[in-house]
Parts: sequence; structure tokens; C-alpha cells
Amino acid sequence: MNILVLNCGSSSAKFAVLDARTGAEHLTGNAQRLGTPEATLDWRHAGQSVSRPIPGADHDVALRAAVALLREAGLEQTLGGVGHRVVHGATRFAQSMRITPEVIAQVEACVPLGPLHNPPNLLGIRIAQELLPGLVQVAVFDTAFHQTMPPRAYTYPVPLEWLEQHEVRRYGFHGTSHRYVAQKAQAMLGLAPDAGALLTAHLGNGCSATAVLNGRSVDTTMGLTPLEGLVMGTRSGSVDPALVGHVARATGATPESILDTLNKRSGLLGLSGHSNDMRTLEAAAAAGHARAQLAIEVFCYVLAKQLAGLTVALGRLDALVFTGGIGENSVLVREKVVGLLGFLGLVLDPEANARAIRGHDGRITLPGDAHAPQALVVPTHEELMIAMDTAALVA
Ligand code: ADP
Repeated sequence: MNILVLNCGSSSAKFAVLDARTGAEHLTGNAQRLGTPEATLDWRHAGQSVSRPIPGADHDVALRAAVALLREAGLEQTLGGVGHRVVHGATRFAQSMRITPEVIAQVEACVPLGPLHNPPNLLGIRIAQELLPGLVQVAVFDTAFHQTMPPRAYTYPVPLEWLEQHEVRRYGFHGTSHRYVAQKAQAMLGLAPDAGALLTAHLGNGCSATAVLNGRSVDTTMGLTPLEGLVMGTRSGSVDPALVGHVARATGATPESILDTLNKRSGLLGLSGHSNDMRTLEAAAAAGHARAQLAIEVFCYVLAKQLAGLTVALGRLDALVFTGGIGENSVLVREKVVGLLGFLGLVLDPEANARAIRGHDGRITLPGDAHAPQALVVPTHEELMIAMDTAALVA
């Protein structure tokens, strides 16, 4: 069954038509810089890549153009449903849902927790319902997979009233990716869907790691917002919250602007002063750029430290899974992180590590004895997971 997958961000709308069973992609596209004169619609179909300027286009214009592309490609009548990425489902959604007026109301109720993401997600749902009224629409939540975390993992040690009255707790994100690669890793290891002790590290521009025990998320590094946890491209990850007050007093900056800096000008970018992009930093570090070297060191050390912390939630380890643009491609980051975690029994296989790039999956550690944990590279495919959930709910 073909599914249209939509991922609407604040200034972009990504779309894909794919077969939920085989993962075959019939058409993929991205409308970027929406609401600006530089807006473009880029798509790929039948081996051809096309980019068209759509100056000033908003989500509505862009999605109309995308649906027109599907019609021209003869794909509209093959669609069985539409799957939407929705970032924040708070505690209201522990699984993907067929979209009803009640579901929309609940997604709206989550807007205070996901103020940047849920409004464009809702906009995409409304426009798709209008443009494709005959199709079942499904919401797939980034937070849903982590709803199995126990209270000890999701509760912050702050006044409990903040949780009870203001929903202040750890939610976790990237759940669709963590769920997808955990399932793939289980299959690669010959484990049943309800077995295994896995650490999944999703390392893209945003980065998070999850402890997956017997197929369920039991702890994760992102929290109330995607700012917590690992060092990321532009986000700091976890820091002492008291630094906000200190920097405010020292510089006169407002707490809001400091939070903005922690989100947009920290992490790899803030440390290196050069780039938020790991590939660029690896090249700079190799050429002797000291701050790029420091950025990579801090990134890998914090990642290894938080992965080690997450093993407490598992009690043992069967496999560490790398995914996302950095996890799937950075031979250097994987080498450093597996090296730092050698005490868990991981032993890198340098040749296998060098081979696992550009979409290749596989084991990157030496086999060891039957109980030795493994490190795996598993390319993520969030669109496919959304399409699979959508197809299941259509059926
Ligand atoms: P997003 O979170 O936006 O989907 P990606 O998952 O595509 O991002 O990951 C982007 C990151 O992956 C960037 O830091 C990029 O430099 C990194 N990356 C991609 N290819 C390589 C590579 N060959 N070596 C190192 N890092 C890479």
C-alpha cells in the first residue's frame, strides 16, 4: 500500500510517497524556506531531481503544489492513507492514531509543550484533510515510543507540583527513529520483538540516545524539550541550569535570549566557532583546527558518558546501535565512542567500521564470546516507520 508521509516544520514541508511494505520510494520532496522570497520546491521522481522556485509560498501553496506533483505522477489514486509526523503528543498518545476531531483537539492541547513544532504539524494535517478528503490520516508522534518510561526515568527531581500542574517531566523525542532502528537491530541479532537490551543513538543535527529493553523505551536523553541530553549540532544538550542566571547577570542578556543561544548557537557550532556540521568539523580537525578538535572530543565524550548512564536502565547490554547522519557515516565518532565504552565489552572492528557508511548497515565490533555486546550501524527510515504505522491503521 502506498502512503503519503508529511513532515511539516515551521518553514518546511517534507513529503514522500512510499510503499509501506517494501519501503520503495516513488516520490520524495521538500518545500524549504517557506514564507520567504527564496522558497523552493525540490523533488525526486523516476530518477530525476527537480528544483522549482516558489517565491513567497506558504505551507498551503507548497502542499497544493506537492499534491499536484502526485497527480501528475499518477500516484494519487494509489494512496491508501496519509501519515503525519507530529512532534509532541505529551502523555496523551502512546501510539500512532487515526486522526479524528478528538485527536486534533488533543494535539492542540500539546501546543504549549511543543510550541515550535505542533502548530506546523497541525497545519499540515488541516491542509492534507482538505486536499485529500477521501483518505485516512494518521498521526505518528515523536514522543509516543517513550511513553513506556517508568516514573523514575521521566520524573525530574523538582517540586512534584510542577509535574502535576504543569506537565513538567521528561518526554523524549526521535521516538519513531529509535523504534525503527531498535526493531531492525532485533532482527539483525535474531532477537524476538519483545527481547533484547539495546542502546540506540540517533545522531543527526539533533541527537538523542535511548535505552530499549525488550522492545520498549525505558529511558532516553532528551527531556521536556529536545534541548536536554547529548551535545548536538547547535544545541548544548544538558548544562547546569544555573548558568542562565549567571550569564544573564554577566552579560545583561535575557533568559529567553540565553535559551535561544543554547538551542541555536551552542553544541558543535558554539564549541567550534566554525560549523554545526560533523563532516565539516572532521575535515577542519584533521587540518589542525583546535576548536573543531575540542568540539568532536566533547561530543564523543558526552555521548559515551550518557550511553554508559543509560545502561543502568538496561542492567545489561546486547547492542549499541548508531543511526542518523553522524551515526550512519562518521567512522571517527563511532571509533571514539566504542573506544570509550570498551569497558562494557565492546571491541571495535576497524575494517567493518570503515565499511559501514552511506546506507550500509552491519556490525562494527568483533564478535567476541556469545555474551559480548555488539555495536551496529542501522540506517534510520522515519518515513517508512510512519508509512508502516499508517498502513496498519488504515487496515
Ligand atoms: P537531520 O537531523 O537534519 O535529519 P542528518 O541525520 O542528515 O540530519 O545528520 C546530519 C549530520 O550528519 C551532520 O552533522 C552531517 O555532517 C553528518 N554527516 C553526514 N555525512 C557524514 C560523514 N560522511 N561524516 C561525518 N558526518 C556526516
